Amino acid sequence: MRLVIVGPPGAGKGTQAELLSEALGIPHVSTGDLFRANISEGTPIGLEAKKYLDSGNLVPSEVTVSMVRDRLNEPDAAKGFLLDGFPRSVEQAQALGGILADLGTELNGVLSIVVDEDAVVGRMLARGRADDTEDVIRNRMHVYNEETAPLLAFYADDIIEVDGMGEIADVQQQILAKLGKA
Ligand code: ADP
Repeated sequence: MRLVIVGPPGAGKGTQAELLSEALGIPHVSTGDLFRANISEGTPIGLEAKKYLDSGNLVPSEVTVSMVRDRLNEPDAAKGFLLDGFPRSVEQAQALGGILADLGTELNGVLSIVVDEDAVVGRMLARGRADDTEDVIRNRMHVYNEETAPLLAFYADDIIEVDGMGEIADVQQQILAKLGKA
């Protein structure tokens, strides 16, 4: 299975992706996690990315796309993967199409987690990650609506809609059912 999971900040993408990756036995590839690991290790990618994560803006695509390309070329991704946080723009989706074409493969589906944006701001403030302050959350929501939401039209034929407002376990069951894996 080669899947993408999309949704606004705080939709629970990371939580659902972690559970789903275990259930399906495929790696969870989170660009947010990859950037945070690079930042804590002080790598060149981390040094470049930090200011963007701190402000809630997108890291430039050339950095992001090559990081994803390298990750998807690792052996464990040959059996499938679940991409979380990428693509985040139509430009990145086109780049992903190129990466997959080079690998001779394509996506099986795009999970779209639908939530009430006001309700999820509370979830994020409770989580307390470094970029979960009110101003940065507001900017991430704005970037999501401007840059990422157009992906829903771009991937219209592949979208699998999921109601993300329930309990974690219920949302997971819904995803597995929609993938025919319940
Ligand atoms: P959330 O979904 O809650 O916003 P993530 O962990 O997915 O959190 O992303 C955190 C930050 O990492 C983003 O605000 C952005 O700065 C950076 N980032 C993650 N994925 C990408 C991407 N595909 N392109 C550019 N920047 C990204």
